[in-house]
Amino acid sequence: MNNLKCSNFQLSKYYFVFPNEIIWKCQRCTLCCKDSRKHIRHIKILKQEGIGLSRKIKVPLEHFAVPTLDKTYSHEILKYNGKCIFLKDNICKIYDSRPLICRFYPFEMKLIEKDIYHILFSGKECNAIDKGKKLNKEYFRELAKNALKNFTD
Ligand code: SF4
Ligand code: SF4
Repeated sequence: MNNLKCSNFQLSKYYFVFPNEIIWKCQRCTLCCKDSRKHIRHIKILKQEGIGLSRKIKVPLEHFAVPTLDKTYSHEILKYNGKCIFLKDNICKIYDSRPLICRFYPFEMKLIEKDIYHILFSGKECNAIDKGKKLNKEYFRELAKNALKNFTD
């Protein structure tokens, strides 16, 4: 996955650089919702995501997340037996409201310079690489739109 070719697009005042030759389709294996032998999964959320989710599911934030020391992500969703507490019978119970970090997986977004974000492949454990079809600019644009909405709300 090194040396991936990249393209870019602009949204508002921001530029996003994304890998443009990735073939991927989620296999719904739920590996990214839990710890594995090699990896401890941290399901980090933005403060506004936590507040929004708390309102939506009518459960206080502190009942499903703990604060972190991270500057960007204020909380981390709790796990039980190494699995996200929202994973029940291998289904995400908050799928439509799942946090950005889950929507992005196996990618993550990093600010590399003022107003320039890089969308990177980081989920090496994901089972879906080379399955499905090539992810296009629209796929990454939707992710970026979602992220900007949350970062600027
Ligand atoms: S690990 Fe990859 S294939 Fe499995 S659920 Fe997560 S994103 Fe989908
Ligand atoms: S919120 Fe949903 S998608 Fe995210 S880790 Fe938990 S169960 Fe998986």
